[in-house]
Amino acid sequence: MTRPSNRTESTPSANTPPGSEVIFLGTGTSVGVPSLGCECAVCTSDDPRNNRTRCAIVVRLPEGNLLVDTPPDLRTQLLREKIPLVHAVLFTHEHVDHLYGLDDLRLFPFRLGHAVPLYCEHHVEARIRMVYDYAFSDRVPTHPGSAPQLSFEQITHDSFEVLGVEVTPIPMQHGPHFNVLGFRIGGFAYCTDTNHIPADSIERLRGVDTLVIDALRFKSHPTHFNVEEALEVINEVQPRAAYLTHICHDLDHGIVEPQLPDNVYLAYDGLRLPLPQ
Ligand SMILES: [Zn+2]
Ligand SMILES: [Zn+2]
Ligand SMILES: [Zn+2]
Repeated sequence: MTRPSNRTESTPSANTPPGSEVIFLGTGTSVGVPSLGCECAVCTSDDPRNNRTRCAIVVRLPEGNLLVDTPPDLRTQLLREKIPLVHAVLFTHEHVDHLYGLDDLRLFPFRLGHAVPLYCEHHVEARIRMVYDYAFSDRVPTHPGSAPQLSFEQITHDSFEVLGVEVTPIPMQHGPHFNVLGFRIGGFAYCTDTNHIPADSIERLRGVDTLVIDALRFKSHPTHFNVEEALEVINEVQPRAAYLTHICHDLDHGIVEPQLPDNVYLAYDGLRLPLPQ
């Protein structure tokens, strides 16, 4: 990373438009909760907060809806939250649980009048071009909308602008061999799928109001923070409020949340937060 930390600290977004909102589309681990075939207390719970689809958020901005990741549950998530249109997508990484709903964006170019812009790193683009090869075929389409129209905006670790806001990538590790991005928009940061946030990236989180962070379960895991590790990061960053996400069936919402520090919450599907300045 080349950016000096004082530049990053001054990033907090003068440009976060008032009235903007973050909606949690999904807050579950890669297999979702309930997980298929499981009859544990959480998977069979009546508490809707224990029903966790695969992870994504949408940031509703005056200039449009900014989606972060396209999980396999995307269509039902957008219907549930009454999000009629997505104007741009950011990708944290290319794991299946964050990517395999991309085809659900197929209707949107008709209303946008152009391809859906995907903001992602080079290796994520490579994976998308491979998995969705039919969207990039040279063949003449059989009919309009037969394949998704997608365009790429390659991002690096530098801040960029989309839909009128500045987005700062937060480079993180997701296990020993895999790098992912969190994103900061003004006073809000979204850091899922990580078990290590390097010191330079912690600096990029300084002064954040609301931090969303991966916390899979209580037990340790090779590629995700557990609750204890997530709380350590929260303690270091000192946000006003923190929300745990990418949660598996080990955490019963109603039991675990009261045990957390006062400013730490479990995220749940459908949770809406104002986008902090
Ligand atoms: Zn994931
Ligand atoms: Zn279960
Ligand atoms: Zn992942």
